[in-house]
Amino acid sequence: MITSSRMKGLNPYVPGEQPKDRVYIKLNTNENPYPPCHQVQQAVIDFVKSQPQKLALYPDPDSNELHEKIADMLNKTGGVLCRARVEGGQVTPSPEDKIPFTVTPDMIYTGNGSDEVLSFVFYAFFDSGKKFVMPQFTYSFYPVYAGFYNIPMDQVPLKEDWTLDTDEMLSRVKENGGGMIFANPNAPTSLALTRDQVRQMILKANKDEIFIVDEAYVDFGGESCIPLLQEFSNLLIVRTFSKSLCGAGMRLGYTVASPELMKIITTVKNSVNHFPLDAVAQKAGCIACENPAYYADCARKVCEERDKFYNFLKSRGFYVLESKTNFLFAKHPDIPGEELYKRIKEQGILIRHFATPGIEDFVRITVGTPEQMEKLKCAIENVIK
Ligand SMILES: *Cc1c(COP(=O)(O)O)cnc(C)c1O
Repeated sequence: MITSSRMKGLNPYVPGEQPKDRVYIKLNTNENPYPPCHQVQQAVIDFVKSQPQKLALYPDPDSNELHEKIADMLNKTGGVLCRARVEGGQVTPSPEDKIPFTVTPDMIYTGNGSDEVLSFVFYAFFDSGKKFVMPQFTYSFYPVYAGFYNIPMDQVPLKEDWTLDTDEMLSRVKENGGGMIFANPNAPTSLALTRDQVRQMILKANKDEIFIVDEAYVDFGGESCIPLLQEFSNLLIVRTFSKSLCGAGMRLGYTVASPELMKIITTVKNSVNHFPLDAVAQKAGCIACENPAYYADCARKVCEERDKFYNFLKSRGFYVLESKTNFLFAKHPDIPGEELYKRIKEQGILIRHFATPGIEDFVRITVGTPEQMEKLKCAIENVIK
């Protein structure tokens, strides 16, 4: 064998399909249907045109300017874009989202998409000697990292109503002593815990248990746990530009937590790849953070379209979970998830179906533009009639 023995254990993540044979309307990977703001587009053009020599040089390995801009954006928006208030070009948090302290740049770490950030977080905080806790149905990359780093996991079933079983998760984390991770709002279920529900778990757990909260979708209506950082030094929040900041192609993910935890992740980064973010991505990320009003508007449009589509699905007999994200998780009483997915694909639209036992009846549908959703509604009507 030319491969290492490690290769046998690898079980890579399978992303939503990105077909090249035909142009589909893509509602299968939870990307934002809107482009980045024109300032970002212009900044990328200007960067390449006016400073091409910068492409020949290594970028800032620690993305210092980007960390400043992210901290600033979080303070201005409260970390939940769809509720951020925009008046006369000024952005302020909705009162319920206001962070009760100032997020500082040393509380931010950035990486090549939150997928990379998560992998470093797994490496840094979960141990091969102790099981970490996660929900049975959550972001399917977590089990992949567990396999990659050889960390045992303890998957806790969801409750009947598809919400996270916080009591059971808490009791298992106490028993195992290996920390916890979940997405909030969760994927693919689209449901969220309140900040207080998260707080109660951390409060009752041991102080040296790490809690990782993945807030990839929080800008679409969840409650951010950033305010809890004031209270808990064992909490770490992972976020991304891929969903609410219209930037999946730029590969920008970040964490928010104490400067001590950021230093630990930076140590992992500097042991793998000193320069995870290229110079253009850093620039684009900075400019995106300077324009939260635009992204708040995009988030609101997505939420509005989501709620309309929720009503549509309900009126057509679907069982649909009440989403706090940019996607809906739904099933039809008579049409299996896989069939629905296939018959919609035939009509030129991609949605996501998971063959995973327990959720195989469902499909996960990303919310697109009003035009895309109109086409999807027609496609669904064709299938169910
Ligand atoms: C999309 C997603 C990510 C990955 O985001 P990237 O920043 O694009 O790597 C992480 N966590 C969850 C729950 C997601 O849905």
